[in-house]
Amino acid sequence: MRRIPPRGRSKAEILRDLEQFRAHDVDWRSGRTWAYVYDPGPEAEEVIKEAYMMYLSENGLDPTAFPSALQLERELVAMAASHLRGDENVVGNFTSGGTESILLAVKTARDWARAERPHIREPEIVLPVTAHAAFQKAAHYFCLKPVLVPVDPRTFKADPERMAAAVTPNTVLIVGSAVSYAHGVVDPIVELGKIAQERGVLLHVDACMGGFLLPYFRRLGAPVPDFEFHVPGVTSISMDFHKYAFAAKGASVILYRNAELRQYQIFTCATWTGYTMINPTVQSTKSAGPMAAAWAVLNFFGDEGYLELARKVLEATRYIAQEIERIPGLRLLGQPEMNLIAFTSDEVNVFQIVDEMKARGWYVQPQLGFGGSKENIHLSINPANVRWADALLADLRASVEAARQGSAEDLGALREWLAGVDWEHLTPEALRNLLSMAGVGSGLPQRMAAISTLLNQLPPAAAEKLLTAYFNDLYRPAGDPSRG
Ligand SMILES: *Cc1c(COP(=O)(O)O)cnc(C)c1O
Repeated sequence: MRRIPPRGRSKAEILRDLEQFRAHDVDWRSGRTWAYVYDPGPEAEEVIKEAYMMYLSENGLDPTAFPSALQLERELVAMAASHLRGDENVVGNFTSGGTESILLAVKTARDWARAERPHIREPEIVLPVTAHAAFQKAAHYFCLKPVLVPVDPRTFKADPERMAAAVTPNTVLIVGSAVSYAHGVVDPIVELGKIAQERGVLLHVDACMGGFLLPYFRRLGAPVPDFEFHVPGVTSISMDFHKYAFAAKGASVILYRNAELRQYQIFTCATWTGYTMINPTVQSTKSAGPMAAAWAVLNFFGDEGYLELARKVLEATRYIAQEIERIPGLRLLGQPEMNLIAFTSDEVNVFQIVDEMKARGWYVQPQLGFGGSKENIHLSINPANVRWADALLADLRASVEAARQGSAEDLGALREWLAGVDWEHLTPEALRNLLSMAGVGSGLPQRMAAISTLLNQLPPAAAEKLLTAYFNDLYRPAGDPSRG
């Protein structure tokens, strides 16, 4: 196992190593990666980095010691709340990301129900199948029961009738997305708000992805449905700065209709021997860097700057979506309401298309099939991607044809073998066997089509087991370099 080096090393050596570590990462700076990085361009990047570094060591733990952190947070929350049409009662907190915002919204709903609906013993959250997996993670962490509800099979939007039917006396929270990650569509929040009010439950709008840009798209004339705080029944909204506000990673916000509801989010502890513990969010000691960077980028672009960025990606998205529909063998899943596109094929294996695109220097994201949404390919269209639209489309056409010609991934033997797998007791040997049959050695796979095809065909519980075992193996302590 690797040890702490016996003597300190030079800055030059250290930075060279760090540079080498990322040689095999996706090359996001090229503009050929259509996921993961929300690239604001080099000028904004410089401002973000300087602001981040300036506040790197300031601690957001204690606002009495660092009033600057409190100031940044209050300004960010205010800008987010007014952007999402909140009135002066709306409150919120800065968090490390969409997942933390969602964890907090769910924990708050649970603790609200403990106080306001004390008869509920087994609280439930009603989720369209398109709601982000972070809600199921929150339910898992905080012991609520997730109730998954099918969506409209054509639009992939939540179906209000089915959502209403899923509400029981144990329901504490229902969820809608603006937009959903997978298909980039806005759920009918106005209808969900009516259900929430009629049934006396909370409604969280997950606007992690869409909250920031959708209001700009609306101003540009796009038909964006209402999803913000002016919709009656909406009680909380999450919005990520580190997606389409283009902030540095580690930046999101959770907003509540009023402070009365937000009180259930805050954890305080006066029963230990250390400093007085008051944590509004999950993290305790935290760098103020992400907050400073988010504040800096909002001030750098300003409202007009974001409107221009929105115009650019909206036009590119419409163009790419229209051209994809013209490629023989491809079709869109839903009609994108943001700069996210999901498309599939009924003729070729989409996972082979992903590998063919990778061989041509593009990263596009595969999504497995679930709940009426067929396996598909996902594109996030960033400002940095826009100039590559035609090149992407040309290679996409070529990749579909290559995938059509190529041999189908041979899963025959694998399928037979799978039938005999004991998923409850998956041994390390069985796992290695399984992965090598899918063409994955130890470490990270190069071609993903076989493994994706396999995962797509497994029952979800089996796929979860397999992925857990794989990651349990992947995150091993680094070896000792002197032993080779
Ligand atoms: C990205 C995303 C999340 C989760 O956010 P993280 O910042 O990755 O934790 C939640 N909901 C939606 C709709 C998202 O797109």
